[in-house]
Amino acid sequence: MRELEERIKNDGQVLGEDVLKVDNFLNHQVDPQLMYHMGEEFHRLFQDKKITKILTVESSGIAPAVMAGLIFQVPVVFARKHKSLTLKNDLYTAKVYSFTKKVSNEISISKKFLSSDDHVLIIDDFLANGQAVQGLMEIIDAADATLEGVGIVIEKTFQKGRQLLDENGVEVQSLARIKAFENGQVVFVDEDQD
Ligand code: 5GP
Repeated sequence: MRELEERIKNDGQVLGEDVLKVDNFLNHQVDPQLMYHMGEEFHRLFQDKKITKILTVESSGIAPAVMAGLIFQVPVVFARKHKSLTLKNDLYTAKVYSFTKKVSNEISISKKFLSSDDHVLIIDDFLANGQAVQGLMEIIDAADATLEGVGIVIEKTFQKGRQLLDENGVEVQSLARIKAFENGQVVFVDEDQD
C-alpha cells in the first residue's frame, strides 16, 4: 500500500537490527485517515471471505482492526493482555512471547465474544516472529471458530512469522512488507519494481 510505505519512509525510525518505531501514526499517536484507508484495503483484500468477526490484540492492533470492522460491518474483539477479574473459565487464554518487550504475556478473550459460528479475520500491527498471531489462532481453535485469514499492517519478511503461518496454510495479506533495514533505512519487498 503506497500511502503506508511513504509514511513509513517519512516517519518510521529504525531501532537497532530489527525494530521499526512508528509511534507518530500507529503505535502512540494515531492517524485516523491512514487507519481508514488501511481498513478499506483490508476489506478489498478479504472481501471474498465470509467474515463475521475481527480479532486483534491490544493496544496497537485496535485502530486498524476497528477501521476494518467498520467497513466489513462486523464487531471487533481485542484480546486483553492484563489479568481480568472475572473467572478464568469465562475466558479463552493463550501465552504470547512479546517480541518488543521480551516477556511472556497471557492474552485472553471472553468466551461470550467468540463462538463456533464465527469466521474470523485476525488483524495486527506487525508480523515479526508470529507469536501474537499464533496466540490468537490458539484461541480461535479453542472456540472452534474458523480462521479466514490474517491481515497485517507491517510485515518484516526477514523474521520467522510469515513462514510459520504459510506452513500452517493461513492466508496472510500485509499492507507493507519490509525485506531489510539497511543503514537505518527501510527497504520494501517490491522496491526494485517501483
Ligand atoms: P510477533 O508476535 O509476530 O513476534 O510480533 C508481533 C508483535 O510485536 C506486534 O503485535 C507488535 O506489537 C510487536 N512488534 C514486532 N515487531 C515490531 C516492530 O518492529 N516495531 C513495533 N513497534 N512493534 C513490533
